[in-house]
Amino acid sequence: MAGLAGSAQIGQFPSLLGRVQGWLAEALIRPTHRPQPVLDGGRNCDQQPSLSNVMVPEPAVTPDGVKAYLASRPRYIRWREWLGGRRYALAAFTDRPRPLVVVAHSRADSEKALELVRAVERDWAEAPQGCREAYEEILRSSPKLVVIQFRRTNICGCLGHRHVIVKEPPFAEPHDALGGDPAGELDIAYRRVESWVALPLTDIALDTQFAAGSRLRDFQAARLRLQLLSILLHEINHMVRSQEPETSIRERSLAFYRDALARYVDNAKASLSLTIDRSFSRFEQD
Ligand SMILES: [Zn+2]
Repeated sequence: MAGLAGSAQIGQFPSLLGRVQGWLAEALIRPTHRPQPVLDGGRNCDQQPSLSNVMVPEPAVTPDGVKAYLASRPRYIRWREWLGGRRYALAAFTDRPRPLVVVAHSRADSEKALELVRAVERDWAEAPQGCREAYEEILRSSPKLVVIQFRRTNICGCLGHRHVIVKEPPFAEPHDALGGDPAGELDIAYRRVESWVALPLTDIALDTQFAAGSRLRDFQAARLRLQLLSILLHEINHMVRSQEPETSIRERSLAFYRDALARYVDNAKASLSLTIDRSFSRFEQD
């Protein structure tokens, strides 16, 4: 009966009820602290994120849009491309709308191409916030689409180059599905990168912290991904700031690599000590 009486009263004072409901809803929804960043859920961040990182606009070019565009091309072109072993892997930064990265590679290099995808989609988000912030403006000014011609090696022996014009056929001309603007393009020779010692003292010192076995292999794979990512960032930096001297661009990309790798090592060592602790406590129970 009390419920019915209540219902009757609610019916008699709809405007007051509406106002009370509004206050309640506002009190429940109103945040009591700054929102957490979307970029990595707050993991591995040294400082509070800037608000620009919190509000992530829609991607300028979506992976689905690019896939639909590639599938819409004439069948004979797609077959020729497929039989020739050409493949495209797409990678989006989780915390920003641009650039969408297209890793153009040969079928034989698919596994390594996926390492680069992982670097963009995961290792970037796990890098310390300070290193990501150093690229904030650069990535904001980047082309919406960046194509990487991902190769084993380069004749000239370089790790990579940026291209003045886009050579990868499907992306050579601006298209609505690709954001309507010209794309950017570079190449990376991953076998060159594998044999590159970016920071001799740091790399060797870190190498010795992992005993041989799966942890050392994981570390070496992470190091390669961070090297690939730092080269990508380095070349995008050249693309958007063509007047900036090489020394300053290089310093920024090496700082990113050094700090992101140090973060990986810290996390890996922390998880190692947790594993040891757990195995000790298991022994104690037995
Ligand atoms: Zn350079």
